[in-house]
Amino acid sequence: TITVVGSINLDRTIRVHRMPAPGETVHASGVFSAGGGKGANQAVAARRSGAAVNFIGAVGWDSAGEHMRDLLEREGIDTAGVLTLEDQNTGQAYIVVDDGGENSIMIHGGANQAIPAEQPHVCANAITASDFVIAQLETNIQPVVEAFTLARRSGATTILNPAPALERVPDELLAVTDVIVPNETEAQVITGIDVVDDESLARAAGRLHELGVQGAIITLGHRGAYYHRDDGESGLVPAFPVEAVDTTAAGDTFIGAMASRLRPDLSNLAEAIRYGNKASSLTVQRYGAQPSIPRAAEIE
Ligand code: ADP
Repeated sequence: TITVVGSINLDRTIRVHRMPAPGETVHASGVFSAGGGKGANQAVAARRSGAAVNFIGAVGWDSAGEHMRDLLEREGIDTAGVLTLEDQNTGQAYIVVDDGGENSIMIHGGANQAIPAEQPHVCANAITASDFVIAQLETNIQPVVEAFTLARRSGATTILNPAPALERVPDELLAVTDVIVPNETEAQVITGIDVVDDESLARAAGRLHELGVQGAIITLGHRGAYYHRDDGESGLVPAFPVEAVDTTAAGDTFIGAMASRLRPDLSNLAEAIRYGNKASSLTVQRYGAQPSIPRAAEIE
């Protein structure tokens, strides 16, 4: 069982031939809405890979919130830990894509930024029953610290995806993190090391490991992922060569799918990463966040 503590967004995408200039109106060639938010994406990825998944988070008192709760439930995700906050809007992302494939994104965090710090305690049963607790940095931080602390106490392994990038991941969060999974940009922001070659990559992974975690994984887009484990084992697990059309939710798919195959003692880390690479290579060949996340049968 996996518990995800994180964000839930409704993604609204609008396609235009070209971006409007300030003050200008352009006509769209289409609109599209789908489930998103890093937390929800990772939960969906883990669930579609076959894991039992509990969610801890919040939506607002609006139709987007009802819709997102319904989407997660239809995936078979346990949403008992998803609060409806009466004074908040559900998190939303407004994405404009032009004919050249360039996109501009505006995000309203809403309820995602107002998860009560005690919510993980209310959902303590879900955490106690879990092998892994996964979180990102797209919500307020206190409930994540509380959830990871409870997870540690019950022997669950905690996985932090430090996204979006923060120069300083709070010490109180690192202190309860077992595995950290940044992408290349996030790894650079955290470590201050520019990843330009194999040597700097190994150095960045080593620096992440020195933050006190048991495992560090840096995802590298079309190159795959590099890991560094406590026992000194490290290496690159190459990506699958595919034609990418939209990399939205690539990292989220990687994390959810990888966690669904990982042993809590990280003994099969390279094998789980290979599964994550395989899953996300399917995601990048399709448009959108949650609609593009594959199921176990397809991944295998
Ligand atoms: P994020 O989406 O968080 O920026 P990455 O871009 O590093 O994360 O992608 C996460 C994972 O998705 C990679 O480790 C890789 O397995 C897969 N992936 C991303 N882009 C591609 C690509 N162009 N071809 C194949 N796999 C990809």
